[in-house]
Amino acid sequence: MVLLLQAVVTTVSLLWSVRVTDAMPDPVQRELLMRQETSRQTGGRVTLTPAEQKLDAHLHRLKEQEMSAAQFLPAIHFFKAKPLIEKSSIFKLLQEMPKGAALHIHSSTLVNVEWLVKNITYRPNCYICFTWDNSVRFFFSDRQPFPRWDCFYWQLLQTLRAKIRDPTLFDNSLMQHLTLFTEDPEGAYPNQDVVWQKFEKAFIATAGLITHAPVLREYFYKGLGELLHDNIMYLELRSGLSRTYELDGTIHDKVWTVKMFQEVTKKFTEDHPDFLGARIIISVHRALGVSDVKAAVKEAIQLQKDFPDVVAGFDMVGREDSGRTLWFFREALSLPAELGVTLPYFFHAGETDDEGTAVDQNILDALLFNTTRIGHGYALAHHPLAKELSRKRNVAVELCPISNQVLKLVSDLRNHPAAVLMSEGHPMVISSDDPSMFGTTGLVYDFYQAFVGIGGLKANLGTLKELAANSIRFSSLPAHLKETGLAMWQKKWDAFIVDHS
Ligand SMILES: [Zn+2]
Repeated sequence: MVLLLQAVVTTVSLLWSVRVTDAMPDPVQRELLMRQETSRQTGGRVTLTPAEQKLDAHLHRLKEQEMSAAQFLPAIHFFKAKPLIEKSSIFKLLQEMPKGAALHIHSSTLVNVEWLVKNITYRPNCYICFTWDNSVRFFFSDRQPFPRWDCFYWQLLQTLRAKIRDPTLFDNSLMQHLTLFTEDPEGAYPNQDVVWQKFEKAFIATAGLITHAPVLREYFYKGLGELLHDNIMYLELRSGLSRTYELDGTIHDKVWTVKMFQEVTKKFTEDHPDFLGARIIISVHRALGVSDVKAAVKEAIQLQKDFPDVVAGFDMVGREDSGRTLWFFREALSLPAELGVTLPYFFHAGETDDEGTAVDQNILDALLFNTTRIGHGYALAHHPLAKELSRKRNVAVELCPISNQVLKLVSDLRNHPAAVLMSEGHPMVISSDDPSMFGTTGLVYDFYQAFVGIGGLKANLGTLKELAANSIRFSSLPAHLKETGLAMWQKKWDAFIVDHS
């Protein structure tokens, strides 16, 4: 507190004493102002150890090289930049860096699509159907599935594959249905509407595979493995808790899914003691009506009460620009307060560039509904009051740079509004939103974009350290587990520094 007070006093007095003159500015004062400004950025007050300073100097040199290269990778569409990013020395360092927690990932996009196609669709009893709108559906069944409105003709994949001449080509075409990834993103996705249409289609296509109960269990274990491989130790997963099905048609309810999630997490942490755990943020689509959302809020309250270690809270998902606003659902969202219970909110808000619209107000409403974090907050920089409020209440923004670029809010990541937030040290964490849709895994690609593209040359090792530690600090974990998590992370961080300095 004393230090903070000193800093404020120094800054104020420094600004008071700035002389605007036609003469040569005072170099000492100039230097002081520059240092003051840097100290405000994310990680600007982190004191680096001598070993960290050494690594920081190395990173700085690497970044200078990347920034002066012919192509600046964060300025290029990620789908084209990806193979080049993978060759970057900064990227390789970030791969090994302990990143803490992934706080914004959706359950349907947790695991890479190659695994789904090359592994899951090769299992017995997997049926496929090609829909009229050029998509696919999958279904596991021990008998020929009945025709549905969207799927008239189901074929057993095993039989179909036996007739196909080029299985690799066929598998690649299946993968194309499950991801946005393409070699020609500009041609395939000329605007936000087109990319969102494909995005939503891919979600529906994936559903039949991962709502098969035995697959979901393995899928989730595999997802945790991918995160651990990227040096991540904890996950908060947004999930609609879709009903799952067995081969014989038995349907499981949401409680089954929560219990399964709990069991798999327990098994995974037993197998990998350096992984802290995982929790769920129950997510409901914003296309629903008020009464359905009311029912979902009530259900979430009950599930959180019954499974407090698993259920972290509640969110609304789906495209904000074409969906209903948080204000539209105000009656449903104020239910917990009316009932005298708490249900933490983790709202997606401000994932829009439609300034001044009703959707744009989601950012303020999320804060008025006492959200714990803000998903994306792309619009936050344009809302000075909301920004002040989130800073004052320590509500972190979950920054997902690649998602924002692929879904066409920004093309050159140097222009991402989070650059302003980072320069001011706004509470922030980095996440990946929908890794399988964007062809990423873990958080490393998003860390690269935030560190090199959004943060620019001034983002340093202190920035990375603060962003990683933030992910534990701003998680929904209870205080004692945050402490455990931070201690675990610090140990990994120290080892990382020793290895690279
Ligand atoms: Zn999201």
